[in-house]
Amino acid sequence: MAIRPEEITSILEQELNKFDRKTDTEHVGTVLQVGDGIARVYGLPDCQMGELVEFPDTGIQGLALNLEESSVGVVIIGDETKIKEGDTVRETGRIIQIPVGKALLGRVVNSLGQPLDNQGPINSTETQRLEVTAPGVVERQPVREPLQSGVKAIDSMIPVGRGQRELVIGDRQTGKTSVCVDFIINQKRTHEPGGSPVFCIYVAIGQKMANVARVVETLRENGALDYTVIVVASASDSNAMQYMAPFAGAAIGEYFRDKGQHALVVYDDLTKHATAYRALAYIPTNVISITDGQIYLEPDLFFAGIRPAINVGISVSRVGGNAQVKAMKQVAGKLKLEMAQYRDVAAFAQFASDLDRSTQLQLLRGQRLTELLKQGLTSPYGVTEQVISIFAGTSGLLDDLPLDKVGEFESFLFTFIKKEYPEAYEELSSKLAMDSDLEEKLKKANGEALAAFKTQEGIK
Ligand code: ATP
Ligand code: MG
Repeated sequence: MAIRPEEITSILEQELNKFDRKTDTEHVGTVLQVGDGIARVYGLPDCQMGELVEFPDTGIQGLALNLEESSVGVVIIGDETKIKEGDTVRETGRIIQIPVGKALLGRVVNSLGQPLDNQGPINSTETQRLEVTAPGVVERQPVREPLQSGVKAIDSMIPVGRGQRELVIGDRQTGKTSVCVDFIINQKRTHEPGGSPVFCIYVAIGQKMANVARVVETLRENGALDYTVIVVASASDSNAMQYMAPFAGAAIGEYFRDKGQHALVVYDDLTKHATAYRALAYIPTNVISITDGQIYLEPDLFFAGIRPAINVGISVSRVGGNAQVKAMKQVAGKLKLEMAQYRDVAAFAQFASDLDRSTQLQLLRGQRLTELLKQGLTSPYGVTEQVISIFAGTSGLLDDLPLDKVGEFESFLFTFIKKEYPEAYEELSSKLAMDSDLEEKLKKANGEALAAFKTQEGIK
């Protein structure tokens, strides 16, 4: 059957007419209801998730979030008191974009990438779409490069790799933020010449502004702000801004990823994000359920002075082990084993009156290893130091030191090895692996260091 060209033209004309009419009516909706920073809008059936909309009466913008059959939930970006029932809402067809790139480093921005730090405008030429839905389980490359935390207990027993999603979980005031901030501070090493730089994004959700300011100050004091972006939606910001903050952080991180670089994004914390979710009556993909492990922090440990208060028995890292530095893998196996034995014997030792020799030794060793794994704030360890320290602990070197001398001996040992055995130190830090030769050298160095320390301290 033949169709004449005129027929086609006329059909097209008819269709185009329909389309024009559609633009007029169907791309403009009406506010049904306003509250909690959200406008419920009727009459925008073509609206996409994350699309920018406009309230022409006020010039305020909004973000379409939950799309239901007959209405759209619009997050109001701006003063919601200016929006009233019956107002017009127009689709823009545009997805919200935020500035990204290196211009954001050292800056404090809100969930839309707007500066909050009085440091002038963000001179960024690049933008990234702000995707406001949590990604599902995405295709990822296997984890093969470590992301060093600088925290001994983590890098040895719960190693995290680049590309991994690790949850830090714990009661109030157990050191969650501190661990994450230390993670960021330790990335400073990656920005040294020859390093593989990790850019950091710290997303503060629903926190008091004073707490965020403290984190920013800590980062600045430790020279970590230069490679870090801070995204803030504080407790006094709207639910909408709090809801969007993690997505903004992700978009800023994706910029680096898409350039083949590395980024560490800290979301502090997602319980606040979940609260904002609920306030938007939104049904989330559970972000928390898609992780590759958890670091558990416990109040009991924290109050017993074991800080960072990581419960190493129940903390896990599912993929990071693949990327763990070889030398660390070599010493950490024994550490994990001895810590596990210690937990077992410590549990019943409280009730037993006389313990056999081997149990006593396990207790003694475990106590010293626990002591060794304590670590102050903002003092991340390099891998070489961590390996030296853990090797000393697991080889029994600390067993006859008083507990309160363990920390002191550790620093003594670092200085001693660097001074007296510089080649061994160099070899370890360049190869990051131990062979029997190097192991012998380190053992010898350890023995001498202990003797010198005991003499210095008058320990017999
Ligand atoms: P919140 O639940 O309020 O967010 P949090 O779990 O993030 O708390 P932090 O704010 O990191 O905990 O730490 C709580 C307190 O413990 C802070 O005063 C911090 O300085 C201190 N602290 C955390 N880790 C250590 C550590 N390794 N050594 C000494 N003090 C620490
Ligand atoms: Mg915190």
